[in-house]
Formats: sequence, C-alpha cells, structure tokens
Amino acid sequence: MKTKSKFMPEPFKIKSVETMSIPTAAQRAEAIKKAGYNTFLLRSEDCYIDLLTDSGTNAMSDRQWAGMMLGDEAYAGSRNFYHLESTVQELFGFKYVIPTHQGRGAENILSTLTIKDGDYIPGNMYFTTTRFHQERNGATFRDIVVDEAHQPDRDDIPFKGNIDLKKFQALIDEVGADKIPYVCLAVTVNLAGGQPVSMQNIKETCELAHKNGIKVMFDATRCVENAYFIKTLEKGHENKTIKEIVKEMFSYGDGCTMSGKKDCLTNIGGFLCMNDEELYTNACGMVVQFEGMPSYGGMAGRDMEAMAIGLQESVNFDYISHRVNQIKYLGELLESENVPMVKPFGGHAIFLDARAFLPHVPQENLTAQTLAAAIYEDSGVRTMERGIVSAGRDVVTGENHKPKLETVRLTIPRRVYTYAHLDYVAESIVNLYKNKESIKGLKWVYEAKVLRFFTGRFEKIN
Ligand SMILES: *Cc1c(COP(=O)(O)O)cnc(C)c1O
Repeated sequence: MKTKSKFMPEPFKIKSVETMSIPTAAQRAEAIKKAGYNTFLLRSEDCYIDLLTDSGTNAMSDRQWAGMMLGDEAYAGSRNFYHLESTVQELFGFKYVIPTHQGRGAENILSTLTIKDGDYIPGNMYFTTTRFHQERNGATFRDIVVDEAHQPDRDDIPFKGNIDLKKFQALIDEVGADKIPYVCLAVTVNLAGGQPVSMQNIKETCELAHKNGIKVMFDATRCVENAYFIKTLEKGHENKTIKEIVKEMFSYGDGCTMSGKKDCLTNIGGFLCMNDEELYTNACGMVVQFEGMPSYGGMAGRDMEAMAIGLQESVNFDYISHRVNQIKYLGELLESENVPMVKPFGGHAIFLDARAFLPHVPQENLTAQTLAAAIYEDSGVRTMERGIVSAGRDVVTGENHKPKLETVRLTIPRRVYTYAHLDYVAESIVNLYKNKESIKGLKWVYEAKVLRFFTGRFEKIN
C-alpha cells in the first residue's frame, strides 16, 4: 500500500519508554546560565528534546539488548570479540580489527603509529578529536575538501564531502609524498553538515594516493549514511544493497577508524581496522597500553556483542532510509519558513547557518554558541555549536581558527525520536527565527587549552 504521508513511518515499534518533560521558562533560563551558556554543560534532565549529538545516544533494539545477556566477560578471547571481528570483516572487508573504547582510541593508535614529526595529514575537512591526535603527533592537518563544502547555500552538488583531487595533488607536489603517511577520508563529513562522498571520488582519491605510496584511512564513523546517499544519488549504484555499497567503499582503502557510538547503533565503543600486517602487530602492542587486550580494547564483552548485532541492523535499508528521511523532514519544515541552513541536508543532522540566522551577531561574539544557547532557553531543545568555539586555536600561532561555517547542529539520535518530536523542534526554531533581533552575543569567561568547546564558559553581552 502507498501511504499518503510524505515519508514512511518509523520502521520500529516501541517496547520500552523513557519519560521526559519540558522544564519551565524560568528553569531553562536558570539552567543555561548555570551551564555558562554552553549546551555541553547542561544536565541531561534539564533538556527536553536532546539534539546535542548522535554519538552514543542510539536506541538499541530488542535483539541488541538480548545480546547484552550473552556477554562473555572473559579477560581474554571473549566469544563476543570473535563475533564482532567476523562481522566487521564481513561488512567492511578489512583484514584486521582492533576494538577500542571509542573512536578517539582508534585515532590515538593510528596517529601515534604512523605520523612522524613534520608530516602532513590531508583530509576532507577536520574533525575535532581526529585533528587533535594528528597534531599531537606532530602532523599538520590540511583541508582538501572541495570548496563547496564551505559554502552553506550551495545545494546544487550532491556530494559536497568529496576530496578535491587538485588540492590533494598540490599538497603532494608541495611537501612530497613521503611526508604524507595517509589521507584521512571521512564518510560522511560531519562538520560540513554530514555531507557524503561519492563512490567515484573514493575510487579516484584512493588511486591518486596509492600511485604516490600514500595510504587511505577512512573515518568510517557514518559510513552507512554515506552508503545511503550513494545508493540514492549516484548513478550505477541504485540497485545495490547498502551492505554491498559499504563493502565496495572500503575495498579501495587501507583501513579505518570507527566510532561505534554512531553507525554501529550502540552507546559506546569503537575500532581500528587495517590490511597491513605490520601496522596491525604494532597496534596490538599499543592497544594493551591504552585500551586493553586486543580482544576487548576497552569494551565489555556485552558491548562488543551489541555492536556486532547493531552493525548488521545498520545496513538494513528500511532503517537507514528512515533515519536519513527524518533529517530531511526536519530540514524541509525549517526550509518552508526560510530558516537558513547548510544544504543539501546531510545524513545525521541539520546545520543551521548561524551567520545568516543572526546577521547582527558577529563571529567574534560567538554567533553559533549564542544561537545554541538561545534555542535551549527558548524551547528546551539542546543543540551544539560547530563554529569558532569548536574550531579552536592554531597550535603554532595561538590565533583563533575562523571557520567559514558558523553552524548550530541539530543532531538526530538514531531510532530515538518520532516525527512528532521533530515538529516541535521545527516550530520552536521558526518562532525564534522570527524574534531573532532580541538575541545578543556571548563572550568567553573560561577557555580550556584543548578541545575548548566541551568545557568553555560564557556570559551574555549587554
Ligand atoms: C564522533 C566522531 C569521532 C570520534 O569518535 P568518538 O567515539 O567520539 O571518540 C571521529 N570522527 C567523527 C567524524 C566523529 O563524528
């Protein structure tokens, strides 16, 4: 039967619920002030609909919860590890799998083992923790994403996460291939708005890298979302399954880091994959120092079981289609009221274009941070700043990075909220947009040296 509604309803029914309630206006004003106008510092209980992140906020299925009871908590050689290992090998196609406590654990091991002081790591836009580990090991990060990724209103390009091969070649010519241990290829690109990379671009990037003896390490965090975009937007892939596309994407590369808190449909965990045996041996040596035995890497047996089951569920077409269409639904509601956003809509979040939303608040007054705080105060919806505060400072000059994209991210947790929740979010934001003149900027009160967006505190400018 064809439904009348624009999108298919949720492809799941609700077996267990978590109640929530909306704090009063006075409680919200108090809570955000106490949090130093940083939504990261709000208490979860003070939030109504929580769109801070899609990281670790996934709802697990009944099958995953059942899998938790099958946890084999042996110190070494847990059967859940072998289940996870064979699942990742089957879906991703890489030879070796090393579990870690979350994505950054994998980034730490990869960066430490492959980067020498003075190296360069090119990537399709930076990610906060990823760049941190690259720089910590003496590398300079170079953004080689296509220019359009930095232009929020360019919605005529389906694959805005693509690598610009000319920029990649120019970097090779400039510094020499021996200074580039690997290119970090993120699928999708989180900070560009969850923008996907085409299969064609993955292939060409890997060809150029390999021709120069450079490895390709994927940031696989949202690879299933990327595969959905390839299936629905790229010619020649429409008849392939999500599973086939994921495997093909990775078949061109050399390994990946993975945050299990995203596309693995679990609440914690991660892993590192590679085909190179020597790197694997070295990584096994390092994982015991920082994470745990190579057969658990910081995860409980039950968590590895839930991850193995979640990975299989994630490549189900109905699941991923519902997920990406939820983002689109929210985006279209906001678009119908001309709210400025990054377009096209990505795979995990809607990114509000804070500069266009609050044209009277300049970037030095922390436009996106201001908007995220105002949204919470107005409606109890928690969002996240992805702008000058998240971008941090240049490690050499100490100057603020001034990203072209100054955004507020409305991130949709997987399988957690319904279309009705998204209606509430859209209505609140449209209302706020109509009353935007009353919103003033913020200034710093406390700034940490690294990853300052997590703990920074601010106050309102009068
Ligand atoms: C979340 C994330 C990471 C880091 O993973 P954690 O599990 O949070 O440590 C790396 N890259 C991208 C693109 C992410 O979204």
